[in-house]
Parts: sequence; C-alpha cells; structure tokens
Amino acid sequence: MNKPAELKLGTVPVWINGKPVSTARRYGEVFNPASGQVTKRVVFSDASIVDAAVKAAAAALPAWRDTPPLRRARVMQEFLGLLKKNQKALAAIVTEEHGKTLPDAIGSVQRGIEVVEFACGIPHLLKGEYAENVGTQVDTHTVRQPVGVCAGITPFNFPVMVPLWMFPMAIACGNSFILKPSEKVPSASLRMAELFQEAGLPDGVLNVLHGDKEAVDAILAHPGIQAVSFVGSTPIAKYIYETCARHGKRVQALGGAKNHAVVLPDADLEFAADALTGAAYGSAGERCMAISAVVAVGAAGDPLIRLLEKKAKAIKVGAGDAEGVDMGPLVTGPHRDKVAGYVEAGLKEGARLVVDGRGSAVPKEGFFLGTSLFDHVKPEMSIYRDEIFGPVLVVLRVDTLDQAIELVNRNPYANGTAIFTESGGAARRFENEIQVGMVGVNVPIPVPVAYFSFGGWKSSLFGDLHVHGVESVKFYTRTKVVTTRWPHQDTPAPGFHMPTLG
Ligand code: NAD
Repeated sequence: MNKPAELKLGTVPVWINGKPVSTARRYGEVFNPASGQVTKRVVFSDASIVDAAVKAAAAALPAWRDTPPLRRARVMQEFLGLLKKNQKALAAIVTEEHGKTLPDAIGSVQRGIEVVEFACGIPHLLKGEYAENVGTQVDTHTVRQPVGVCAGITPFNFPVMVPLWMFPMAIACGNSFILKPSEKVPSASLRMAELFQEAGLPDGVLNVLHGDKEAVDAILAHPGIQAVSFVGSTPIAKYIYETCARHGKRVQALGGAKNHAVVLPDADLEFAADALTGAAYGSAGERCMAISAVVAVGAAGDPLIRLLEKKAKAIKVGAGDAEGVDMGPLVTGPHRDKVAGYVEAGLKEGARLVVDGRGSAVPKEGFFLGTSLFDHVKPEMSIYRDEIFGPVLVVLRVDTLDQAIELVNRNPYANGTAIFTESGGAARRFENEIQVGMVGVNVPIPVPVAYFSFGGWKSSLFGDLHVHGVESVKFYTRTKVVTTRWPHQDTPAPGFHMPTLG
C-alpha cells in the first residue's frame, strides 16, 4: 500500500476548497481490473486533511445556505448540463477503475444524473406548511433548514451513481458536503467536483476526500460534521451508524444485500430466465440490487435451471471497454479469489454446481472470473447466507408461495426482491407480505427512480430515511416550527398557565 513513491504514477488528489491537493502522509494504489495493473496512486487522507476539508465546508456554509433555493437550483441545472455532456467520459472512468462494461457504466451514470434532475426542483421541495389562526391571532408555519456540513461515504461498485444519490440533494438543500468515495475508484468523484465548480458552485461547498478507515474514522469523530450518509457493506454500515450515534450525528447507513427472486410455475420462464441472468451476472454481480438467490417454486425448478444454465454459459466475459462483452472483471484480485472460494465452499457444502465459473474461458490478465450457477442450495449453506458480491447465482427449491415468502422473510438482508408470475393475486400477496424495502413484480432489479426513495430494510439499512426522493430532503434538512403573534390593542395579555393559544 504505502510504497507508490517509486511507482511514478499519476496521483489522484483530494479536492478541498475548490483546489486539488496531492501531498499526503499515505497513498493507496488504484488498479485497472481488466489488466490487473496499478494505474495511479491516490491520496489517503488523515485527520489533518479531513480537518482542512471540514474547515473549508464550514466557511462556505453561511453564504450557501442563505443563497435562494432558486439560485441554487440554477447552479444544479448547469451541473446537470455538464454531467450530460460528460456522461460517456465519466462512464469510461467507471469502466477503467471498476471494470464494468461501458454500456452498463453509461446506464449507471444516467441513473445518477436523474437524481440531479430531481434536485433541480428543490425550491418546491423545500416549501413548508402554514396554518392561520392556530389560536386567536396566532399563526404557525414550518421552515426546512439545512443541517450544516454533511459527509458521504460510498462503495466501489457505483463510482458515479451512489455519490450522486447524496451530494446533489444535500447541496441543493443548502448544506456543504464532504464526499469520501471508495479508495478503489477515486477518480470519478474528483471529476464531478471539477464539473460542479465549472457549473458555478462556490468553492468549499463540495469537497472530496480519499482514503480508508483512517479517513472515515476522522470524519465520524469530527465535531464540525452534522450528518453522515453511508452506502457499503453491512458490517461497516452498522459500525458507521453506531459511531455516528455516539458522536451525536444524524446518520443513514445503507448496507449489503442478498436479493431473492421468487419464480412461480405460471411465470413466463424464458422471460424470467433472461431477466434473472442479467440481474445476477450484470456488473459481475457487484450490485447491491443484484439477484443472487432464486427461489424456484414447484414445477418451475427443472425448466428454469435448464434455461439459466444455457444463458449463464453464453455470457461473454472480457474487458469492459471491449465490443460485445457482457461481463467485465471483478474489482480486485483478492475479491476475485474470495468469490472463487465461495464456489469451492458451495461444492463442499453439497450444492449441485451446474456452471463452474472457475473453468470458463476468461482473459488471463486482470481479475476475471466466469459465471457460476448452483442448484439445490439449502438455507444453511454459506453460499446462501453470505453476500458473495460476485457472479454466483444460487437456486433454492420450495413447494409453495408460502414457503418462498417465509424463506425471504427469514433472511436478515432486505434490500430488494422480485416475483415472477402471471398471477395478480400471487403478486399482490407477495408485495403485501414480503419484508423487504424494494419489491419488483416481473421486474428483476426494482431500483426506484430518482423521485422515489431508495433503501432497504433490516440489515440492509441502519437509520430511518432512505436516499434520494423526498426522504433525502427530510434527511438533509431540519424542520423548524414558528408560532407568530403580532400584538395590538385587542390582544389578550399573556397568562401564567400552560398556553392553549385558543
Ligand atoms: P465497504 O463497506 O467495504 O466500503 C464502503 C466504504 O466504507 C468505502 O468508502 C470504504 O473506504 C469504507 N470502509 C471500508 N472499510 C472500513 C472500515 N473498516 N472502517 C471505516 N470505513 C471503511 O463496501 P464496498 O466493498 O466498497 O462495496 C460493496 C458493498 O456495498 C456491498 O456489501 C454492497 O451490497 C454494498 N452496497 C449497498 C448499496 C445499498 O444501496 N444498500 C449500494 C451499493 C453497494
């Protein structure tokens, strides 16, 4: 980790008060997963760098929070235009550092851009409530005020989209922001900060820090930060939630997932198998909304397995920027090895390995692994219990919809789920009884559009409010209730009992 001085590579700086800063005590390595090579070094922030960013954000806050929302929205609109203009270039950075295919990366950038479109409507979203005559000559209204300096800590798998879930809404609400993206994919966040500055965002309103646990811990402990948004794995999400609570910070911490798709015998199985193949293996399974467990009900099992096997074997694995590739590499060598380890574990645990990704024809350089498919998986097996976060799909067999619902509800994760069926009644029951945050009916990856909110339940979310949509306005603002009386000669004199205002 700490020897990149000899590497003679470009440095990804942090971005503080509108300027890049490249000097640091520690640096990390950035890989291109398709070549397996180190391509850059990245600044790792310590407490002093975090403190400099907080000071910049705090200094920028008073003017920004008092900037009329309409003017803030105009800056957002300029940013939106620049993001659209740079969509392919941003996606190319995603492909280079994460590995996913370019069309997939372009789609993920698009989903992030849609949050900025939503943020452009901030003047309307910040409006409060008003009630006249709550008491004699007394009126009450509410205002939504920014929380202050907010921070966002994001995972490696969506280097543009997940940061865009956070900082545009926080900044539109009048906060200043410190973004700490995953150290594995640092460059896209930096580019977005440059574009936002070009759009007219005052320096210091958005700062970007890089680094590992040292940087994160300094953010969590800093008294100048009022709220933290986190997206990442469940153990770290829980740690972030508990640490923020100890430091008195507002927090939303989105965690990992094991997303089930229930397939009923009456479903269009060809359609379901196509949808599940894309949802399981797209982005090499490194999506928090990837389908990683299929629950085949009754007679759906055998034909579904045959279709999934055929489709999993047909997936073309290669570099994300190559033509005609369906699936890129995994993000790092250790992660690839960990996922391959699960394939071995599944075999040892007694599941039937229908497709073995370890033997697939994949490029030799880089962190590639083919698609794997298991059948007859049992709930106690590690390949079902754990979030593998790779191209491994497990199929469990049950006899009834009741059993399928019970199985999904027993799982501690509860991010997304889907049902495939032609029966409206079955779908409605599933939607009503399933204890999961985001539900698809014949939709494998039910990621809500930007004007709804995104988030799971149970171990997939620590906190109360989801990201983007109106819940993000609630998260990034505090409500103040103002009660007003303008005394004149007929106004009764104040008394000494509990005021009832009547
Ligand atoms: P991760 O939890 O390892 O890292 C996320 C962030 O936390 C990174 O910025 C990282 O630097 C930081 N971090 C890592 N270890 C830390 C530690 N010990 N102390 C403090 N900070 C630490 O997650 P990842 O591997 O980057 O991303 C994959 C995970 O993210 C998966 O579990 C996936 O399901 C989850 N994810 C969830 C959602 C969602 O919306 N629920 C979306 C995307 C990804």
